[in-house]
Amino acid sequence: MRWTDTHIFTLREAPADAEIPSHKLMIRSGCIKKVAPGIFTYQNLGLRALRKIEKIVREELDKRGCIEVLMPVVQPRELWEETNRWKEMGAGLLKFKNRNDHEFCLGATHEEVVTDLIRNDLKSYRDFPRNIYQIQTKYRDEIRPRFGLMRGREFLMKDAYSFDRTVDEAQMSYKKMYEAYQAIFSRIGFDFAIVEADTGSIGGNQSHEFHVLAEFGEDALMISGDFAANLEIAPVQPPSSRDDIMIMALELEEFATPNLRTISDLSKSTGVKESELVKTMFFRDEKEKPFAVLLCGNDEVNPIKLKNFLKMANPPEMLDDKAVFEVTGASPGSCGPVGLKIPVYSDNRVAVLSNFIVGANRDDFHLRNVNFKRDFECTEFGDFVVAKEGDICPETGKPYTVRRGIEVGHVFYLGQKYSNAMGAKFLDENGKSKTIEMGCYGIGVSRTLQASVEQNHDDDGIVWPKSISPYSVHICALDMKNAKLVSCLENIEKNLNESGIDFLVDDRKERPGVKFKDADLLGFPVRVTLGSKGLESGEIEVVIRSSKEKRSVPIDRVVDEIKGILES
Ligand code: ATP
Ligand code: MG
Repeated sequence: MRWTDTHIFTLREAPADAEIPSHKLMIRSGCIKKVAPGIFTYQNLGLRALRKIEKIVREELDKRGCIEVLMPVVQPRELWEETNRWKEMGAGLLKFKNRNDHEFCLGATHEEVVTDLIRNDLKSYRDFPRNIYQIQTKYRDEIRPRFGLMRGREFLMKDAYSFDRTVDEAQMSYKKMYEAYQAIFSRIGFDFAIVEADTGSIGGNQSHEFHVLAEFGEDALMISGDFAANLEIAPVQPPSSRDDIMIMALELEEFATPNLRTISDLSKSTGVKESELVKTMFFRDEKEKPFAVLLCGNDEVNPIKLKNFLKMANPPEMLDDKAVFEVTGASPGSCGPVGLKIPVYSDNRVAVLSNFIVGANRDDFHLRNVNFKRDFECTEFGDFVVAKEGDICPETGKPYTVRRGIEVGHVFYLGQKYSNAMGAKFLDENGKSKTIEMGCYGIGVSRTLQASVEQNHDDDGIVWPKSISPYSVHICALDMKNAKLVSCLENIEKNLNESGIDFLVDDRKERPGVKFKDADLLGFPVRVTLGSKGLESGEIEVVIRSSKEKRSVPIDRVVDEIKGILES
């Protein structure tokens, strides 16, 4: 392809709203163009790379027996009502009516549609296993779309769904997809980590996320030895209890703490370490009933852990100040568990404290020498904190280190959640009706595209991996008026075409400096410089984008040299 025959416009400057390198580079290279917040056009270069990712995904799935379909973006409300997700998904689901007042949403995910698709087809035990996938546009009304394709509102996802007869068979399907994902992300050339992820109310460790490791990743990954989990769920080892030490419960005492509303202020004033102060937080459960959670002063509450502990569909909502006052008679900062008539859940790290300080449920007062049992009943103890670097992982007994990642894939064992809600059943060998076991498997195809740029760039531009680069070769033709040069170019073009190597020829009337800058920005793996000077010497310059290594190659060996570099 010649530059003057295609539609590429590079930018010197990135737009102000592009915060991270990959977003800036995707825009500057003209791979994508913003239409509205979180909504982009894939221009030709971006689309070429996207198609190469799709091809890798299709190859790895097709060879594992997955079957491709294409389901609709527009989905009727009735299907989403069957699983109660019309309500549960909240405002993330973009809903609208057609001219007949029928309600629809844009597909944020396709469990409902695919379960509806198969429930009429998979009737016999002979029909299994099945794995159905598509590469389709999704829409999620993200509150804060950002980082370009990383968190879009409209984005491209590969979503697959497995259907099995038994839990064991469903585990095999899960494993197969896990391996497919390993193969896909390896072929794309990622440095990635696989971490345990939130399974919601389903439980078990049958949910893994695939993360591209990158400084600007939105997710924190907690890694301890060969265990890795998303921060959302990373468990922390409970401290060993102090049963062996006799602790005298001291007399409960109220004391004035005027204007001391934060843990840090309280710690400074009392001289007690933040980790030994106890803070009380208030939430609402699914029945709108309030409950309290006790945490050590230096810990942060983890809403996902709370959601899972209390078997809720979504993380609990925090009470606002007014609601806290209604429950406690005090403002946040002066509240505590003593005298409350609501459930009180306590983090394991609080469980080992004694004679501790809490709010007195009276503004500007605290209680000291508070003890479990004597002063209040704890409903249940659990792990409710956000893990921190250095915390001990109960799986390995070793401390955690933190890495940042971009979630590009997610495999999830669903069990019978959707098949049950939607009546997807089959008849087993004995003619007995059974509910289908399901799994779902997503790859953020458009996010993957940008994640690759995030992991592969330098100060000059993108450094595309060979696997998905829009073009493999960038030829800078420096003087298209030179007939000898054009004939040499045509020869190289012919040879590259015959070898099935895709290339872009920069045939614009621009200075060499401009062309080289753009070649670095676009970042295809190999650059060839075709100038009049080189032609006379009989040698052409070949540059490897990733290492910037320059090679002088005899003209008739250029295509072989390129082939060698691309295959290495
Ligand atoms: P996130 O936690 O990043 O919001 P998610 O866990 O809600 O994502 P899934 O439902 O697991 O997303 O979707 C499957 C894949 O789709 C994700 O692993 C991710 O790669 C991609 N994805 C999800 N949301 C977006 C988005 N807003 N923009 C681009 N890709 C997305
Ligand atoms: Mg996910």
